[in-house]
This record gives sequence, structure tokens and C-alpha cells, in this order.
Amino acid sequence: MQSFHLPRSAAFGQLETLARERILILDGAMGTQIQGLGLSEEDYAGHGAGCACRHHSDHPQKGNNDLLILTQPEAIEEIHFKYAMAGADIVETNTFSATTIAQADYGMESAVHDLNAEGARIVRRALDRATAIDGKPRFVAGAVGPTNRTASLSPDVNNPGYRAVTFDDLRMAYGQQIRALIEGGADIILVETIFDTLNAKAAIFACFEAFAEHGTRLPVMISGTITDASGRTLSGQTPTAFWHSVRHARPFTVGLNCALGAAAMRPHLAELAAVADTFTCAYPNAGLPNAFGQYDEGPEDTAAQIGDFAREGLVNVVGGCCGTTPDHIRAIADAIAPFPPRVVK
Ligand SMILES: [Zn+2]
Repeated sequence: MQSFHLPRSAAFGQLETLARERILILDGAMGTQIQGLGLSEEDYAGHGAGCACRHHSDHPQKGNNDLLILTQPEAIEEIHFKYAMAGADIVETNTFSATTIAQADYGMESAVHDLNAEGARIVRRALDRATAIDGKPRFVAGAVGPTNRTASLSPDVNNPGYRAVTFDDLRMAYGQQIRALIEGGADIILVETIFDTLNAKAAIFACFEAFAEHGTRLPVMISGTITDASGRTLSGQTPTAFWHSVRHARPFTVGLNCALGAAAMRPHLAELAAVADTFTCAYPNAGLPNAFGQYDEGPEDTAAQIGDFAREGLVNVVGGCCGTTPDHIRAIADAIAPFPPRVVK
């Protein structure tokens, strides 16, 4: 089932060659850019005239950012294009919550296939436009989020043995997402913002199953998130333990994203970079959120800290998570440019 016998995709080889030459750039946040559009419930649901979205639900859709792939495709493509032109080599699909498990909150389970297939196609279109301008190769990363349920922990303090979701539930939901991402042309599968390693293991297993069906192995990027100051994931692992839990997947990159910003991420990234015998990837938030949940750290600040990651030889791929913008990505690309990529032992 591990599918290592399968031929690797063409993009896999290209990415590996590029990653040995230089530090690669991943894009930044979708949420901040989408907020800036000031969209209404009508805009999200796409009930207006001329809407192409054939999926409907009785739930309010405002806040269902993934649905904008189907209801506001031009706006989403434009955000991807801005990130590509800001210097991103790898751009993520807007599919963080595009599983039946996460879309259940919006009654939009039926849209999951279209969200992922179309989500990958939209990124590909944006990247092809950018490449037509400057000739640089770019790659579509199919974003696979953690879902809003955890397989390792009980959400009920009175019933510690209870689980809101099982490994097999996750494996099937992720499998549906990953197959559709591949169908839409994803070059990479990026399992991100992992707070529960068991959820990630289900996503990895689903990748292997999908690759076996597809007959080709795609590069997998795996990114955990350290949610507290003690330096552990929500399911209680140190960065070293996290690496040993996912290394069987032979990921293209392992790394960290989101959470506490670059300064707090640095020691955990250093620990991971010291143990992982694969490329590393770091894309922190733009600092810590303020009292209103907004991120105040400017492009130069974030870029200086990520520049330090590069100077210290800790990274092979860098980008931004919550609160980052195309200006952050442009500044990050400038900041890392003088430094060679981390050498994989
Ligand atoms: Zn984030």
C-alpha cells in the first residue's frame, strides 16, 4: 500500500532538482485576501444571477471560504495569481476545509469533489498565466487541512474514550479529497496544520491509496503545527516525535506552519531540521494575532525572521500562513535569496 514502487510524477523530479538548487517559495494566506474582498452571504452562496454553482444548502455560507472556488472563481484565481507574481514557486489550492467532514458544518458535503478538482484547476490557470509572463515553472499544491475533528482526543471531558471521528472516517474523507485534487491537476499533496498526528496518518494513508489507483507517486509535503509554548502539537508530540511518526511516508518536505509566528517557531524548526532526512518547510503566521484576531506583523518583520531561518541553514521551502499577504511573500523571497538551501543529510 505504500506505493513506493510506483513511478514518480514528472513534477516530483523537477521539484527535487529545484529544491537542491535554491530555497523554494510557498504562497501566503488565503483568508486575509478573501476578507479584503468584503463578500456578502449572497456572494459566498452564489445565489445571484449567472451563478455557476450547482450546489445548494440551507445553511448560511458566509465564512465557507473554500466554496468561493465555485461561486467566485475569478476572485480566487486572482489571489493565486498575485502570490505567483510575488515569487511563489508553489501555490496552494483553497481547499483547506474541502472534506465531507469539514463541509458538514455548512451542509456542503455534496460539493467536495468539485471544490477539490476545480480548486486545483483554478491554481493551475493562475500559475500558467504567471509562467506565460516570466517563464518560471510553478507547482500546484493540493491543500489538505486537519478537519475540525480529532481522532486522538475526546471532545467530551466526561467521556475520555469517545472519538468524534475515526481513522477510517478520515481516511475515506481525505481519499475523496485527494483523488479530486489529483484529477484537477495537483502536482503536490500538502497535508498541513497538523495538530493531531493520527489525522495526518489517515491523510498519508489516503495519499498512498490514491497514488496506487492513479499509478503515479506525487510528492507529499507534511506540515505540523505547534500550538503551545511547551513545543508540542495538540496531540502531545515534540517535533522529533512528530518526524518519527510521519517519516514512513518519505515526504518531499516535513515542516511547521501556522501557530505562534516565526520567532516562536524557530527552536522547533531547528529541532526538526536536525532530525529529518528530507527537505524542510516553514510557513509561520505573521506574528501573533492581536485582540481582534488580526495580524499586525509587516512584510519586512516576517521576512527578516524567515531570512534568519535561511541564514542558519534550516529551510528548503518557506512561505507564510495566517495574516501573510503577497507583500509578505515578495519580502520573504527577497530575504532568503542570498542563502543556499539547507543540505539534507
Ligand atoms: Zn495559519
